[in-house]
Amino acid sequence: MRYSKYLAPTLKEVPAEAEIVSHKLMLRAGMIRKLAAGVYSLLPLGVRVIRKVEAIIREEMNKAGALEVFLPSIQPAGLWKESGRWNMYGKELLRITDRHDREFCYGPTHEEVITDLVRRELRSYRDLPVNLYQIQTKFRDEIRPRFGLMRAREFSMKDAYSFDVNDEAAGESYALMKKAYNSIFKRCGLRFRAVEADTGQIGGSFSHEFMVLAESGEDLIAYCDQCDYSANVEKVSLVADNTDPPTGSYKPAEKVHTPGKGSIDDVSEFLNRPRSTFIKTLIYKTDNENKELVAALCRGDHEINHTKLARALDVNEVVLADEDDVIRATGAPVGYAGAMGLAIPVMADNGVRSMQNAVTGANEADAHIINVNPGRDFPDARYADIRQPVEGDLCPKCGPGKLLLARGIEVGHIFKLGSKYSESLGATFLDKQGAEKHMIMGCYGIGVARTAAAAIEQNHDEQGIIWPVSIAPFDISILPLNIDDQQVVSTAEKLYDDMIKSGMEALLDDREARPGVKFKDADLIGLPLQVIVGKKGLANGVVEIKIRKTGEKISVPVDEAVSRAVTILSDL
Ligand code: ATP
Ligand code: MG
Repeated sequence: MRYSKYLAPTLKEVPAEAEIVSHKLMLRAGMIRKLAAGVYSLLPLGVRVIRKVEAIIREEMNKAGALEVFLPSIQPAGLWKESGRWNMYGKELLRITDRHDREFCYGPTHEEVITDLVRRELRSYRDLPVNLYQIQTKFRDEIRPRFGLMRAREFSMKDAYSFDVNDEAAGESYALMKKAYNSIFKRCGLRFRAVEADTGQIGGSFSHEFMVLAESGEDLIAYCDQCDYSANVEKVSLVADNTDPPTGSYKPAEKVHTPGKGSIDDVSEFLNRPRSTFIKTLIYKTDNENKELVAALCRGDHEINHTKLARALDVNEVVLADEDDVIRATGAPVGYAGAMGLAIPVMADNGVRSMQNAVTGANEADAHIINVNPGRDFPDARYADIRQPVEGDLCPKCGPGKLLLARGIEVGHIFKLGSKYSESLGATFLDKQGAEKHMIMGCYGIGVARTAAAAIEQNHDEQGIIWPVSIAPFDISILPLNIDDQQVVSTAEKLYDDMIKSGMEALLDDREARPGVKFKDADLIGLPLQVIVGKKGLANGVVEIKIRKTGEKISVPVDEAVSRAVTILSDL
């Protein structure tokens, strides 16, 4: 490809809208442009990367025996009503009405559509197992689209669905996918972990998330320093908390004046008591029928995990209550909630039960209560494991091991679904004995563009992207520095032709631009190699090959440049 005929509108400035590196660099390298919140256009460089990720996914999925299909993105509401998700899915589901007033949605996922296809086409145990996949555009009206392609509203997903005759066979399909996912992310050049994941409301089944390790990750994962345990923190069952009530002496509870000290840090300093002696009280709104408010408690140096809290309350979702609701529930401004005397249900973390003579808000502005004792002062609280793990918590798998924490980007998710959809949608088959049974399903997703973005999060420097060879938009930039020099131009042109002939994907920067501009853009776009063709070098019969990752420059004779580049590339 000739840069002069290409569309790669690079930007010098860091766009203000971008918070994380991959988003900044995708914009700056001219890979993407924003159309609306969470909706992006892919420019030619972006498309090339996405196609490479897709090609790796296709190869590994095909190798694992999955069959590619392509399902509609628009789905009739009727199917979602059958599965029971039309009402459950909430605002992330983009609902559409056609000219005949028929309801549809833009598919956020395809369990319903695929199960409908399979229930019509497959009837016998002989037809199973089958695993069908597609690479398709999804729409989820995310509450907070951000980070560019990482959390978009419209995005491309590889989704696959397996159908088996029984649980054991479904386990085998799951294992095949786990293996395929490992190969996919490895080939994409990522450092990742498969972690145990929460199964949400479906229950009974199991699930793994593939997490790319990166500081910018929205997920937190816990892993053991001694065994192979690793899990999304939402999934970690803590064993360390002492759930026994305390046995020591209770001091009388006492209200203290804490003017303007609404945060635990402030009160802790003001009262000169460590944060671990505080009972943090947060008011949440649940998504159950009455949008009920609940108070969730944990130790002052711990954090509530929303997913664990929702699970303990047996609701889909909890969100922090807004100011008005907090005032309604506690009678006090935000910052002064406490567990004593609340009229709403109280769910406390297990770690709270053994606290003694603790501090809480007084449900009154500018006041706290000291010497609070859970069993005596709020005896009606329910207890569950609802907190976020912290480093040093005991490993739930091996005991003596300690948990460590890391941030991760969820690029893939595999899920043993069981018979949830085959039951609600009636996907059955006849077994060997002629008995009608429900198929056992699994589903398997990969965020295609999120995978590319995660690769940038792990592979970049101050100058720009450093693409892993496998998903780089091209292999090599050819940089003729003096575009008015006949020999420079003809050498670059010949290298370009020869590199293409030898199977490399080359981007020839034939623009009439200063060398500084070409160097900057080449580093920003981040192809694995650059060949620098300059007047001075040619006078000595050499060009320079630069390895983007290390910055190393190797001077090579012109007629060896192609073969050297091929070798270096294959070693990267
Ligand atoms: P998240 O917790 O990040 O919202 P999810 O659990 O909703 O993800 P799944 O429904 O399992 O995601 O979707 C499969 C894959 O699709 C995810 O692993 C992720 O890589 C990708 N994905 C999900 N939501 C988005 C999004 N808003 N933008 C880009 N990719 C996404
Ligand atoms: Mg999501």
